[in-house]
Amino acid sequence: MTIYDLVIKNGLVIDPAQEIEEKFDIAVSRGVIESVEKNIPSSSAKTVIDASGMIVTPGIIDLHTHVCYSICPRLGVAPDKTCLVNGSTTVLDAGSAGHIVFPSFREFIINNSRTKIYALLNIGSIGLVTFFFDRVKSVLLSPELIDISETISCIEKNRDIIKGVKWHHVYGQEALLLARQVADKTGTFMMCENSALYWYPIDIVLKFMKKGDILTHCFHGGPAPAVIDEEGRVRQEVEEARRRGVIFDVGHGQASFSFSVAEKSIQQGLEPTTISTDLHLGNINGPVYDVGTTLTKFLLLGLSLRDVVEKATLNPAKALGISDRLGNLRPSSVADIVVWKLVKGKYELIDCMGEKRISEELLRPIYVVSNGELVVR
Ligand SMILES: [Zn+2]
Repeated sequence: MTIYDLVIKNGLVIDPAQEIEEKFDIAVSRGVIESVEKNIPSSSAKTVIDASGMIVTPGIIDLHTHVCYSICPRLGVAPDKTCLVNGSTTVLDAGSAGHIVFPSFREFIINNSRTKIYALLNIGSIGLVTFFFDRVKSVLLSPELIDISETISCIEKNRDIIKGVKWHHVYGQEALLLARQVADKTGTFMMCENSALYWYPIDIVLKFMKKGDILTHCFHGGPAPAVIDEEGRVRQEVEEARRRGVIFDVGHGQASFSFSVAEKSIQQGLEPTTISTDLHLGNINGPVYDVGTTLTKFLLLGLSLRDVVEKATLNPAKALGISDRLGNLRPSSVADIVVWKLVKGKYELIDCMGEKRISEELLRPIYVVSNGELVVR
């Protein structure tokens, strides 16, 4: 008889990649999924997890985080302690590092974390190193901090990790054009902020965006124009961008998620393509906390559990071009798995505008498996 390293039994398996939403057992060996089937005997495993009454999903792929900790001292969170233990087995760092600090980010953080880390390179040379240092913030606005050829060369040297370029509003509108050039020249994509600031209305930002590009903070509540207009209707430019394949990503963050904008958008059929946290030091103690809390907000907004899982596993995997081995529970895929409990109670969830809503359930990770190994129990 085959002896597996780990078998997860009796859980409700939700794997949108295989269109599974049913009770199955999952067997894991040597870091990969071996099989997903009914009644795998407990005696065939070195370790057994009983997931009765729980939900089993692929490891979460959080498409917007800032894990460049210590290099960005007031922004970055430590990935293993904040993302991995809470269910995000893979994260995308959304432009914490520019080309000057990327080598340190790679050597000291990416190479030494259990969390799988992909990155977007910031269009600004030092990225967000000085973020939340208000007295030196204006330094960032200098166009002299952008070097296109160094940025391109850094992407080319780190193709396995760097998936695209990040336009961050602090670098100004001119940088948007430069980010477009970098993405086109390297054949990668661009992530743009649906930004807080008055200077960059969404119609201007969307003009630069193509298929496969990611508009993060998609349910920003303002003060700049949101995806919905003053009458609450989804803007024409937004509909057009969605039709041409722009990805709408939540990127909850400290100031970038409004229940009311999300609700009105979803009612009109504008669902996010991907649900991400924008987890960083400024929001980890609220309003974001962790990925389970962000996912719960979308259950509260009426999305099904299956849809929420798809938007945090399969869809981000596709956006990053890694869906062959991550974001799903297919046999031979990497064994990144989360066992969740939908805990009943009364939970006050808060958005970035201060609006509170009560949820009667909260998605909590009970077991996290990364590369076939149990991370938390
Ligand atoms: Zn961010």
